[in-house]
Amino acid sequence: MYDLIIIGSGVAGMTASIYASRYGIKHLIFGREIGGLGLWASKVENYPGYVSIPGPELMENFRKQVERYSVKIRQEEVIRLRKDKLFEVITDQQESFRTRTLILAMGAAHRKLDIPGEEKFLGRGVSYCASCDGFFFKNKVVGVVGGGDSAAMAVVHLADICQKVYLIYRKGREQMRMERAWKEKIERLEKKGKVELILETNLVKIFGGGEMREMGGMREIREGVAAVELDRPYEDSKHLPLDGIFIEIGQVPASALAADLGVKMDKAGYIVTDLNMRTNVPGVFAAGDLAVIPGQILLRQFVTACAEGALAAASAYQFLRR
Ligand code: NDP
Repeated sequence: MYDLIIIGSGVAGMTASIYASRYGIKHLIFGREIGGLGLWASKVENYPGYVSIPGPELMENFRKQVERYSVKIRQEEVIRLRKDKLFEVITDQQESFRTRTLILAMGAAHRKLDIPGEEKFLGRGVSYCASCDGFFFKNKVVGVVGGGDSAAMAVVHLADICQKVYLIYRKGREQMRMERAWKEKIERLEKKGKVELILETNLVKIFGGGEMREMGGMREIREGVAAVELDRPYEDSKHLPLDGIFIEIGQVPASALAADLGVKMDKAGYIVTDLNMRTNVPGVFAAGDLAVIPGQILLRQFVTACAEGALAAASAYQFLRR
């Protein structure tokens, strides 16, 4: 039996574990992918103490710090949670663990466009990770969909590698929600002719080489992505020839497990907590990208995920001491 089980080994879960260790709480941490979405960041330049560090390297440092306290991250998937007097955590290995408290830190998954061709060409021109896959598009022409910080980061990263990058955003330039610093970087790349913005436009379909040939052929025939269809013409055509398309349109919370426990969620599926990361279910806490604190500015960053993980561990400690 454990005092605490943390589900999720992203930034929030690993910070919760470091704090739980320092509070002397006997705990376990589950996570299939150590580092979570942090692994997808090409460069992190707003985590204080590091001027600039690749996401995977920062996540590796987190892992070492967790394991320094003799806590091993169990890379198993939790498939069910149950509650009686204690909580029960059941994994895909059909193992069961009992615990007095839980911290839910499962993070979020990439949001999909849900358009034809997106799934079909995944890994063959469709990507949700510019820092992982950008390398395969050296000197190619690519598109990035989105208007937030993730899309901006992808554009700036890809502009270094690719011949040309189109940023396709569904609203106008003024509505782009990326940080000012990103906007300025992108404007500089536009002036250099590296980046072009296609505004007030949505993607309708992603085509491969074979399909393009059927349409009259705009590019050579290949296995992967050859073009996208837009919902309004850009430079007189709704078909934009591209070698790759990076979808950077935010995240959806991975909170499905929490439903088993009757944890309160908002309409979008984020777990609602108070300022101390307590959910409506006593003994259950949430932290990181899947948590939302009503009224608080939504800032989903490494530092905020860390702060929430630390607070969740402190709240669990208080709960256990009652
Ligand atoms: P955001 O939710 O901030 O932005 C998503 C963007 O995608 C929006 O511009 C949105 O458009 C657009 N979008 C959403 N759904 C669709 C759709 N179906 N079709 C077309 N466009 C769509 O997500 P991010 O991943 O950019 O960022 C998530 C969090 O991570 C934020 O808090 C961000 O600040 C943080 N982050 C910070 C970084 C940094 O360097 N500081 C780097 C990366 C992420 P609309 O604007 O119209 O809603």
